Amino acid sequence: MTAYVVGHKTPDTDSIVGAITLAYLKTQLGEETIPVRQGVITPETQFILDTFKLPEPILKTTFAGESIYIVDYSDRDQAPDDLDETTVLGIVDHHKLGDITTSAPLECWIRPVGCSNTIIKEMYDYHQVAIPAHIAGIMMCAILSDTVIFKSPTCTPIDIKVVEELAVIAGVDDYKALAIEMFKVKSAVDGTPARDLVLRDFKDFNMSGSKVGIGQLEAIDNSVFDAIKGDLFAELKNLKAEGERHTMMLLLTDIMKEGSELLIVSDDETLANRAFNVTPVEGKAWLEGVLSRKKQIIPPMEKAFA
Ligand code: MN
Ligand code: MN
Repeated sequence: MTAYVVGHKTPDTDSIVGAITLAYLKTQLGEETIPVRQGVITPETQFILDTFKLPEPILKTTFAGESIYIVDYSDRDQAPDDLDETTVLGIVDHHKLGDITTSAPLECWIRPVGCSNTIIKEMYDYHQVAIPAHIAGIMMCAILSDTVIFKSPTCTPIDIKVVEELAVIAGVDDYKALAIEMFKVKSAVDGTPARDLVLRDFKDFNMSGSKVGIGQLEAIDNSVFDAIKGDLFAELKNLKAEGERHTMMLLLTDIMKEGSELLIVSDDETLANRAFNVTPVEGKAWLEGVLSRKKQIIPPMEKAFA
């Protein structure tokens, strides 16, 4: 039976690339497996697929009766809505353990590294399956994206070693130059509606019963957001009301300054102070050294809600 590999909702590069690279591996191992996506491709991901000449996975959001592999999450909130009607064959992830459970044994590759594709590269090595150049290229870019070119506190020496190995296989001499080009594409906001930007890399979390939405935009230099910050803030307010959320947050991450500006709208005015020890002015505060939502935002937020 054909299986599918599906990344999280609002897919980022790791989710799309992970679906492609894990499906290729599984197919090489004799299991016919198809990569799919739960949402639109970002400009960054499109750039990577164009660079290495790979087609985008097909859009698929219902999986009742199907077998699936899950990549880059283990939270139900980020899974297909009909997850309970699927058979989960495996999970490959690098986030905190979520709340997905299964009724049958499954394969789990969950490790605290910077990117799901780092783990997938190790799976290729474990199974001794050769990685084609174009597959190596997209894996390398996914790791450079998730680790913010190794600057994120989530980055480990394993991620760096894997990128260096993949660069050789992909035939890319200067992978950092390619990564800067990739982040320039990611930084481009011209003409994109504010709502689309807030939701581009967006996740909902259940924090002790409260719904919290957190988006993140990364730029080489976050002055690109200056002209549209008011519009972004207005959309945070709209989305908070529409989604019955307790809190909406957007991180404007500056890769070169190595920090993030926090935009926050919350029912609890003391939340930012309790979580990050900052006092927002008109809903905005600078978070020095904060690059990673998963490692530097979610844990203190969950503590503040506990
Ligand atoms: Mn992801
Ligand atoms: Mn990831």
